[in-house]
Amino acid sequence: FNTARFGQHILKNPATAQKIVDAANLKPTDKVMEVGPGTGNLTVKILEKAKHVTAIEMDPRMAAEVIKRVQGTPDQRKLEVIIGDFVKVDMPYFEVCISNTPYQISSPLVFRLLSHRPLFRVAILMFQREFALRLVARPGTSLWSRLSANVQLYAKVDNIINVSRNDFRPPPQVESSVIRLVPIDPPPPVKFEEFDGMNRIIFSRPNKTVRGNFQAKGVMKMLEQNRSTWLAVQEMAIDDDRPINKMVDDVLSELTFAENRASKMDIDDLLKMLAAFHGVGIHFS
Ligand code: SAM
Repeated sequence: FNTARFGQHILKNPATAQKIVDAANLKPTDKVMEVGPGTGNLTVKILEKAKHVTAIEMDPRMAAEVIKRVQGTPDQRKLEVIIGDFVKVDMPYFEVCISNTPYQISSPLVFRLLSHRPLFRVAILMFQREFALRLVARPGTSLWSRLSANVQLYAKVDNIINVSRNDFRPPPQVESSVIRLVPIDPPPPVKFEEFDGMNRIIFSRPNKTVRGNFQAKGVMKMLEQNRSTWLAVQEMAIDDDRPINKMVDDVLSELTFAENRASKMDIDDLLKMLAAFHGVGIHFS
């Protein structure tokens, strides 16, 4: 079975596959969702430990391969394969997600998981090293970014295994890392679009001051529009005659955040700032 012609990098090192599955600490009662099982190198190891696996695989030839692999074994009835694009299919119920997916869907995978309910217990995910390091980056380090903040608002993330490109056939261009993602339960009561909308502005140049980023072209105009929409929806009259840039400046000065830089702000700072803007009717989505 020649996987190279599908342009997929199959994990060939069994010790690495075992480490990934072990990292999930599976219980015999667990229902697992696997995204992109490929030929099933992780799948068979997950089936040894879990109650049930739903695998979502886009390539019907790969799906056939993983099904064939368990056919006639006791694991056959524990495996369900959904053929489809993970980004489009409905997710099954699961407690644990394990995935070595293609790296093009890294971001949608993370955010789809984070918005899924009920919350799962843990996800063990393999990504391109660069992406993994941005996910787990801490404030004040060079990789702290909008992605780090948006993910760490909802989850605790750790880099747990570095995987060499030589563990794959064919070897990819880049190195990989496996991360553990544990959703924060209960999730903070913050609308993602609002948090992300604010982060879009202040992380557009993370080393520039927050005030400076708010003065970038188009930002005030957008906030002004959001504010009129919000006032209309709330059926509120304009109760504040300050121009929008003055309102923004006042919020930042009161918080003493005007001269801060997103590169050094942690999740608590960001949440405090978002709450202060909401307090004066300034919205980001
Ligand atoms: N998990 C296997 C392993 O570790 O050996 C295969 C990894 S391979 C890098 C990625 C797999 O994800 C391939 O089988 C590919 O067909 C599948 N895939 C690609 N895009 C997908 C998508 N959007 N939804 C579901 N599966 C996808």
